[in-house]
Amino acid sequence: KSSDLQGYAPICLGLEDFYIRRLYLRIQDCFGRPISSAPDAWFDVVERYSNDNNKTLKRTTNVSRCLNLGSYNYLGFAAADEYCTPRVIESLKKFSPSTCSTRVDGGTTSLHNELEECVAKFVRKPAAIVFGMGYVTNSAILPVLIGKGGLIISDSLNHNSIVNGARGSGATIRVFQHNTPAHLEKVLREQIAEGQPRIHRPWKKIIVVVEGIYSMEGELCKLPEIVEVCKKYKAYVYLDEAHSIGAIGKSGRGVCELLGVDTADVDIMMGTFTKSFGSCGGYIAGSKELIRFLRYTCPAHMYGTSISPPAAQQIISSLKVILGEDGSKRGAQKLASIRDNSNFFRSELQKMGFEVLGDNDSPIMPIMLYNPAKIPAFSRECLKHNVAVVTVAFPATPLLLARARICISAAHTREDLLKALEVISKVGDMVGIKYMPVEPKKL
Ligand code: PMP
Repeated sequence: KSSDLQGYAPICLGLEDFYIRRLYLRIQDCFGRPISSAPDAWFDVVERYSNDNNKTLKRTTNVSRCLNLGSYNYLGFAAADEYCTPRVIESLKKFSPSTCSTRVDGGTTSLHNELEECVAKFVRKPAAIVFGMGYVTNSAILPVLIGKGGLIISDSLNHNSIVNGARGSGATIRVFQHNTPAHLEKVLREQIAEGQPRIHRPWKKIIVVVEGIYSMEGELCKLPEIVEVCKKYKAYVYLDEAHSIGAIGKSGRGVCELLGVDTADVDIMMGTFTKSFGSCGGYIAGSKELIRFLRYTCPAHMYGTSISPPAAQQIISSLKVILGEDGSKRGAQKLASIRDNSNFFRSELQKMGFEVLGDNDSPIMPIMLYNPAKIPAFSRECLKHNVAVVTVAFPATPLLLARARICISAAHTREDLLKALEVISKVGDMVGIKYMPVEPKKL
């Protein structure tokens, strides 16, 4: 509707102006602030908007119950759970909300040790170390692993926590084209040859950093090919599984399990607990030597407060459910649901003519809007029908590659998904984003 787009002409604006305008868009339209204490497939959304063309920020507030298509609650563990929640409450009574200490100064409880053992076993690595925040896991670990004289080769679409960790390390950084093993090989060959003829290998160490599922693209990492290239050039592989661990693979063990990669070929396995496990924090898993080295050298481990005990208990309990160690089949059911839900939703969107990024089995499915001016109309119309979607644009994506990023959960019922598809289809027609017309079936 032209009235929805009034005042938004970002392509005509300078970048700075656009950025400021984007902030306004965020205030007005990105609205998603869950206020319910237990977010499930449905949550309460606080809408704030002004309708006087940004001259003043007059806001009205309206709370509505919406279908949540934007959270990383992949397995539904962020809601009250019959197995996890009572155990989390018990741990709160026994250990309190915070250890108020670092891991080395009394902030290590039996839960912390148990969690590290459970994580190592789950990701099939000899040892693991956990941190209170996923973002910090990347940004604090990379500078410990590598420094001046080392080379980081990073996928062009890696998460900001990786970018910041790489910058903070002091190592030389090169970027390879997103998920393109052939380009990674080209960069490696160039970098190794640079020291010729006297030094065959000019770098002290080379680390290649990739993600299991790319969060803005919904795409699976081409891990088997990347591992092969790294083996050939003797580079270490660092894999961020924030979005893939727990969410994909037959038993939820992530992209290695799904694509048949031996975890022994991935030197540093990183992941977060904020998505599939409904908790917070992050981990690094690897060889016993690597983890011992991190325990004695990583400032975030030595000087930062340890992960909150109830959060640790939530992760341990959800892992038990995923592995079926709670004595039920709920874990397997959740894994089957997220896979079925994701593949169903993706194929239905494609049948409708939307351009959807990402691979089968991935619970993240960006619907391309392209023009950022379509964001307000798309998100506002969906919200009017109680469907909350997250829209992303510059600077998180290139300027003209705006998109609505749908995240599917095992907690969505088929009924929820059918309702969402009906709404998105109508809004898609209205906003004009069915770019891939569906071929009419031949009679
Ligand atoms: N890595 C990736 C790939 C991410 O997408 C995110 C955040 N979504 C993080 C790390 C940071 O994790 P957290 O939100 O748990 O701090």
